[in-house]
Amino acid sequence: MQCRLGCGACCIAPSINQPILGMPNGKPAGVRCIQLNDDNLCKIFGDPSRPKLCDGFKAEKDVCGDNTAQALQIITELERLTS
Ligand code: SF4
Ligand code: SF4
Repeated sequence: MQCRLGCGACCIAPSINQPILGMPNGKPAGVRCIQLNDDNLCKIFGDPSRPKLCDGFKAEKDVCGDNTAQALQIITELERLTS
């Protein structure tokens, strides 16, 4: 599936254990990434400093659901199961 631009759930719900510009220790689950702008788009998309984890994350129906609320719910649950 195509990423729903402006969703941003995968930049909020999961923990990211790689340094992010402005968040040198990465980010905990449920915390909004500092690089997520007000339109829920990544400010450093395409920049070499963007974490590899983010580059590797691809939109999938099973994870992203049908809307942002579903994505937040599913990713939060996946995070809980894998942490
Ligand atoms: S959760 Fe899925 S649809 Fe939402 S921003 Fe991330 S990849 Fe895109
Ligand atoms: S760096 Fe960009 S893609 Fe990665 S979590 Fe932050 S806003 Fe999202």
